[in-house]
This record gives sequence, C-alpha cells and structure tokens, in this order.
Amino acid sequence: MPAVRTVLIVGGGAAGCATAILLAEAGVQVEIVESRPDVPAVGSGITLQGNALRVLRDLGVWEPVSAAGYAFDALGIRAPDPAGTVVAEIPDVRTGGPDLPATLGMPRPVLARVLLDRAAEVGAKVRFGVSPTALRQDDAGVDVTFSDGADGRYDLVVGADGIHSWTRRELGIDAEPVSTGMGIWRVYVPRPADVVRTDLTYGGRCYIAGYCPTGEDTMYAYLVEDVQDRSGLDQAEQIAVFRELAGAYGGPWDDVRAGLTDDTPVNYARFESHVVDGPWHRGRVVLAGDAAHSCPPTIAQGAAQGFEDAVVLAELLLGAGRVDDDLLDRYAARRCARAREVVDASVQIGRWMLDHTPPAEADVPGLMRRVSTLVTERP
Ligand SMILES: Cc1cc2nc3c(=O)[nH]c(=O)nc-3n(C[C@H](O)[C@H](O)[C@H](O)COP(=O)(O)OP(=O)(O)OC[C@H]3O[C@@H](n4cnc5c(N)ncnc54)[C@H](O)[C@@H]3O)c2cc1C
Repeated sequence: MPAVRTVLIVGGGAAGCATAILLAEAGVQVEIVESRPDVPAVGSGITLQGNALRVLRDLGVWEPVSAAGYAFDALGIRAPDPAGTVVAEIPDVRTGGPDLPATLGMPRPVLARVLLDRAAEVGAKVRFGVSPTALRQDDAGVDVTFSDGADGRYDLVVGADGIHSWTRRELGIDAEPVSTGMGIWRVYVPRPADVVRTDLTYGGRCYIAGYCPTGEDTMYAYLVEDVQDRSGLDQAEQIAVFRELAGAYGGPWDDVRAGLTDDTPVNYARFESHVVDGPWHRGRVVLAGDAAHSCPPTIAQGAAQGFEDAVVLAELLLGAGRVDDDLLDRYAARRCARAREVVDASVQIGRWMLDHTPPAEADVPGLMRRVSTLVTERP
C-alpha cells in the first residue's frame, strides 16, 4: 500500500502534471485542479535540458515530446557585432544520459497539452477553471473547498501552483519571490534555416540576446534588459520595442526581425527567484516546483527542477506505508540543496552582468559546467 490513496494536485503545470502522472500510474486516485480555463492556445517556447528530458521519458511522453520539439547538442556564443560573429561553439553536456539529447526546445502549449493528456490517460481527473478556496486538515486528511462550490477530502494535497503559489501563502510559508533586476522579452517566430541550436550573445544593447529552435518551422527569441515597467504597452508597441532592441544584433537576428509581424506572440516577464528553506510542507500539504523554488531562466533549469521534485516526492510516497512529517522532511531534504544550488547559479549569472563584473572574474562557463555536473546525477 502506498502512503496515500487520494491526492489533490493544485496546478496543472510541469511539476503538478509530473507528480500526477507518477502517482496515478501507480494506482493512486489523483485529481488536478487548474485555475486556467484550458491550455493556452498560443505561448512562447521552452528550453528543456537533458535532466528534464530524462524525467519526461520516465513519464512516458518522450515520443510526443521529441516529435514536437527540436533537439541539439551544442551552444553557440555570438559577438554583439553587425554580423553576429560566432566566437565559440560549446558542446552541451548530455545531463539526461548519453541516449538523450543535451537540449530540446519546444512550444510551451504543446508541452502542457502532452503532460495533461498523459495525466488523463493514466487516470488522473483534471478540472480546468477551478481553484481551492480553503484547506482544513486533521491528522488523517485534508478537506478542500473549491471555487466551483464543490468540496473533497484527500490524503495529501500537493501545491504545484507556481511561483506566486496560493498554497504556499495558505500554509503561512513566508518566502516570496524577489526581483533579480532583469526583465525578458520573448517572441515566437519562424525559424530561419541557420538556427539549429541556441546561440547566446552577452552584451551589446541587452544583457543577453538568445534564441532556441522549437520545431522545424518555429523558434523563440529573447532579449534580457534591466527590469522596467513595460505593462502600458499595447501589442504593436511591444513588437516595436523588441524590434528596436534586436536591431543591435546581426546574423540570424536579421531574420528574426524580418519574421516579426503585428500578430507575433510577444511577452515581457520579470526575473524573480526564491527558495523555501525546508520543510516544504505543513501537515499533509506539500509544495513542489516553482511554489517551492524559482530561478531566472539564465540556465534553463526551472521546469527541470520541478520535474525532479515530482520524481522524488512520488518515489517517497509510493515507497512508504504512511505519510508523515518524517517522509515529507526527507523529500525537502533531498531536494532543497540541489534546487538552491541551481537557483543561486541562475541568479549569479545575472548578477555578474548587472554588476558589469569583468569576464576574468565572472566564470559563466565554469558555473554552467558545475550545474551540468550536479544535475547529471539523478535527484
Ligand atoms: C521568462 C521565463 C522563461 C523561462 N524559461 C524556461 C526555460 O526555457 N526552461 C525551463 O526549464 N524553465 C524556464 N522557466 C521556468 C519555468 O517556466 C518554471 O520553472 C516552470 O514552469 C515551473 O513549473 P511549475 O509546474 O512549478 O509551475 P507553473 O508552470 O507556473 O504551473 C503552475 C500552474 O498552476 C496553475 N495555478 C496557479 N495558481 C493556481 C490556483 N490557485 N489553483 C489552481 N491552479 C493554479 C497555473 O495556472 C499553472 O498552470 C522560465 C521562466 C520564466 C519566467
């Protein structure tokens, strides 16, 4: 008998779906409530490193993920000059093992749909447009009231409701994300034929200019700047700002600019980060993914870390006879140091740029190598 028979997952994102799939596959009755009305039809792309791909394979979705995405094994570094000169080509570490690519880019809405479909396929019940409004727990379970008026009782509640988690606040855990000082523009555009991997340019008009192919015909491109209030801009103004900032970069960036239209999906987000110092639970309610830790995407490990939470939490729940403080303490103990190292490294890379630390002191490749070595180990 696993430690739980019934589990409520709050949030149908990467961490929530992965937890749901692993538990439901093992026969646990799982419900996901997702506040959005459905998977968004449009969105940006996501860069998934090998350790994320390893989990996706374990979830049984490697086939649709690899079919939809674009895999590659190297990172390019380009100069901020008019030609976008390639100054380095660095082989990426295959952190998920030699039989998986180092990196894969894919459209976010496709990843979300693949994960939710798999959760439903293995028996999880998914309710869209629903949030919990109250949690009351005793020694034996958690009573939950929902925004649609329904209620239910569960052996465990997993708060996988993202960086601004309602569950975290409801538990009284006082660890809110803070701005790291940077903001990122992202556009989703046609892939020029010569974009076959991520290339990054450090410096120039922005701190980072980069892109990632997400399929045969698509990619996303991003520009990182000092964080500012961009909320007043309409779609046309946002595209105009992106076009202007991107004008400083050459090579494939000429095609990125040419691919921009009035309808190009464009998005501005602030970089934020936090780590909840363990424990990650109160009683029978436990956090996973961005609810517990968040990082700026400077090394593209956010989703991977959420997937790893799911793997460890499910392993412990399925291997124990009862759920108690000891089990959930062990979950946070196994995850917290690793997540913190990834968060700290992700923040440090941005900090060096904000402080204009000389390249001799800002060892970005060394830090990236350290994180790659860490996440190559199974969590
Ligand atoms: C600009 C940017 C770019 C990024 N790029 C990358 C990248 O390339 N690679 C990478 O690995 N990571 C990236 N990340 C990080 C990554 O997006 C997150 O780490 C990852 O999505 C976290 O997954 P999650 O399931 O914990 O949270 P989320 O993906 O945020 O999912 C949480 C879900 O919970 C739902 N929800 C929220 N509140 C409630 C509620 N009260 N009730 C019910 N449902 C609720 C939300 O609608 C959402 O669907 C990026 C982050 C940012 C900000």
